[in-house]
Amino acid sequence: MRIDLHTHSAVSDGTQSPTELVRHAAEVGLDVMALTDHDTAESWAEARAAAADVALTLVPGIEVSCRHAGEGVHLLAYFPDPTHAGFVRELGKILDGRNSRLPATLERLRGEGIDIDIRDVRRVARDAAAMGRPHVADALVALGVVKDRDQAFAKYLAPGKPAYVDRYAADLVAMIRLVADAGGVSVIAHPWARHSHTALDAAGLAALKSEGLAGIEVDHQDHAPETREQLRGIARDLDLIATGSSDYHGTGKANHELGCNTTDPGQYERLLDLARAAAVASGRATPEVPVG
Ligand code: AMP
Ligand code: ZN
Ligand code: FE
Ligand code: FE
Repeated sequence: MRIDLHTHSAVSDGTQSPTELVRHAAEVGLDVMALTDHDTAESWAEARAAAADVALTLVPGIEVSCRHAGEGVHLLAYFPDPTHAGFVRELGKILDGRNSRLPATLERLRGEGIDIDIRDVRRVARDAAAMGRPHVADALVALGVVKDRDQAFAKYLAPGKPAYVDRYAADLVAMIRLVADAGGVSVIAHPWARHSHTALDAAGLAALKSEGLAGIEVDHQDHAPETREQLRGIARDLDLIATGSSDYHGTGKANHELGCNTTDPGQYERLLDLARAAAVASGRATPEVPVG
């Protein structure tokens, strides 16, 4: 069983349509794939239809932009009811924040002497429901300003760089509760990636578990081998699920190929058990939980 629990389609900042992504996952031999676009469930329906035609179990998810103790944290929400009013409202606020940040980002790029406007970004983002910095990066590549997304982040878009603009993110604890209320299961994505995430040490994760956190993503490309072992130890001590995944973004992110990290089938079983329990406890009509 090869299980990859974190991927992106072009509905957020991946580069393949949900159909292409699902077919690609089946071709490379994944048995289970979670589609976790940023802040939207817009990709689920198409992915579900595509998965029905191939030998792949699709897990519906969303990678929600959150903030905790002043730092950005990504929360993977699996199987939430995407029609839950409070959840929909909060995702709407995040998507509004993404859209309203865009003009400010472009203004700063023009301040750097780059001739770019919203149409340049729309052209590359096409019908993405969640607009992000990677789309601005793609526009900069198309304009010949930088050679790839990495260079766009390094020169302009990363925090501290001239075109970085902050945006709204949901409170992490409130979002963990909201996901539970929507009948879903919460796993923190790449907890120790890039930024220090000082609040996500063992004590911080224990506190989040008492709020309903189910697991942490341990095997991720942004975690060095020692980091993975430390996180695996914390997961074991706290009885949190430990997942592994690619965080695949198509050609948008190098070295994140589908299945480059996978989730242990026993850990996946635990996630499915918690999803069934969450659905019952919430009383919501949540997406069907597969039989593992
Ligand atoms: P945003 O959603 O606008 O906050 O942008 C964050 C997204 O940009 C995340 O999905 C990251 O995976 C992606 N990202 C961050 N740094 C880079 C980079 N150096 N190259 C490509 N993508 C990146
Ligand atoms: Zn992304
Ligand atoms: Fe992330
Ligand atoms: Fe991601």
